[in-house]
Amino acid sequence: MALMPVAEALQRVLADARALAAETVALNDAHGRVLTEDLAALRTQPPAAVSAMDGYAVRAADVAQAAVKLALIGEVAAGHPFEGEVKAGQAARIFTGGVMPAGADTVVIQELTTREGDTVIIQKATSKGRNVRDRGIDFTQGQPLLRKGHRLTDRDLMLAAAMNYPILSVHRRPKVAVLGTGDELVAPGSTPTAGEIVYSNGFALMAMARSEGAEVNDLGIAPDRVEGIATAVRRARDWGADILLTSGGASVGEHDLVQRALATEGLSLTFWRVALRPGRPMMHGRLGGMQVLGVPGNPVSSYVCAFLFLVPLIRRLAGRDDVERIPEPARLGRDLPANDERADYMRATLSAGPDGPVATPLPAQDSSLMAPLAKADCLLIREANAPAASSGSPCVILKLAL
Ligand code: AMP
Ligand code: MG
Repeated sequence: MALMPVAEALQRVLADARALAAETVALNDAHGRVLTEDLAALRTQPPAAVSAMDGYAVRAADVAQAAVKLALIGEVAAGHPFEGEVKAGQAARIFTGGVMPAGADTVVIQELTTREGDTVIIQKATSKGRNVRDRGIDFTQGQPLLRKGHRLTDRDLMLAAAMNYPILSVHRRPKVAVLGTGDELVAPGSTPTAGEIVYSNGFALMAMARSEGAEVNDLGIAPDRVEGIATAVRRARDWGADILLTSGGASVGEHDLVQRALATEGLSLTFWRVALRPGRPMMHGRLGGMQVLGVPGNPVSSYVCAFLFLVPLIRRLAGRDDVERIPEPARLGRDLPANDERADYMRATLSAGPDGPVATPLPAQDSSLMAPLAKADCLLIREANAPAASSGSPCVILKLAL
């Protein structure tokens, strides 16, 4: 197979990926979940005009000048409305959140008053409507406020609660099984013997999937043997994975191993090899209802491939309406040579420049280097066959998560 352009590869990955079924969750469990439908307010907020301050509810006409005396006729606290009406020459004691009594249209803050028994003396003229929050200034019943496909933030939960939703309909979370492959891999904290290295890439891939709202199953490390890999693939399927993400076994010749194991389990291959650096030996296929992404083992390659393909796939399954990330403009921090036929996602740092952000590719771009990847702020995109570009010229970036 020829190298496939990144955009086409992504299109194929997303081609028949559909948002997962709806389920109902309590508001407290809805953070980071994606709404299956538009939400309209079930009530008006505030439901009535209320005081914004502690003070006295009065008629504006009575407080057009200072030094007036008004007769106190009652008290209104939040949750305890006052049944009576404030008439000319009268005032009601009121506290923040208290419903404005009939007749009153203005609140004089207590700092501008003095009290003499059942009389309040207004020391300063106050204009009509001061310190009053009108009914519905936040939102009104029926107003659509949260949209289908939106991933709920902490603030959205506050709003949904105020809209009077105790439960929400959200898409099921995508289930992502993550498998490392390689005879050389040992778990962090081990004492590697000669030729062994520490399994590292999966920790970023799993964290990335989780932060996109996926449920993750850590399948650990499979050895470089078809049967071992196939066993892990079956575990993913038995768990009900929506996505199986494998890493490693991607070198020429060796890649057959992961693909062969997947083939024995019934993989239908979509593509293998993308015009991408790092990450050329990336593959995608389907195994029953499970999407399979096979990313290379080199840590930076695995990360870039997951960033470019796993994240949008999770977002699509999660029902999000913002599946693809839009590259942002920046300026180049150093000269770059012409690019070859593979799109390059260079690890770069960001700094502030006179014309906006400046992206400077780190000097070491080898796909095995984890220290520069951790230091990078963004991926600087060099399109396939891009001409040489000089420092200061426009470029596009994808910011990495903090
Ligand atoms: P592979 O894709 O299996 O040919 O691996 C390419 C390179 O990445 C080799 O140097 C592997 O040792 C290394 N590698 C593979 N898997 C991992 C992993 N899970 N964590 C860290 N390095 C890995
Ligand atoms: Mg390997």
